[in-house]
Amino acid sequence: MSYDDQNIFAKILRGEVPSTFIYEDEWAVAFHDINPQAPDHILVIPRGPYVSMVDFAMGASDDEVTGFFRAVAKVATAAGLDDDGYRILANAGPNSHQEVPHLHVHIFGGKRLGPMLVTNFK
Ligand code: AMP
Repeated sequence: MSYDDQNIFAKILRGEVPSTFIYEDEWAVAFHDINPQAPDHILVIPRGPYVSMVDFAMGASDDEVTGFFRAVAKVATAAGLDDDGYRILANAGPNSHQEVPHLHVHIFGGKRLGPMLVTNFK
């Protein structure tokens, strides 16, 4: 899948759609999810134009990959989630219900999150 630079996160990165960054560095930015699914629900996105984890892991530079994952860790820690725990999730493609085609890691926390998947696959 090629990158669509009209996706909402691309517009946020360009400043065309307002957002409040709770973290930003050379490689990544983080902001609160507009429709939170947990008391803490943060999105971390790379600055580069990558659709998915595979696109990112295979196409980004080592510095981008390292910088992005360090940013995820810094954001989770700065949000105070390290002690009680949290979940990270990255959707990819239609089976995952990925809505925004720019790689993003969800960080969920702030309560007992329960079983990993809420739907029964059978
Ligand atoms: P996904 O289904 O993994 O693609 O998740 C996309 C997420 O982006 C959803 O949880 C949305 O609530 C969130 N989202 C969409 N637009 C915005 C926005 N402008 N600011 C913050 N979060 C957003």
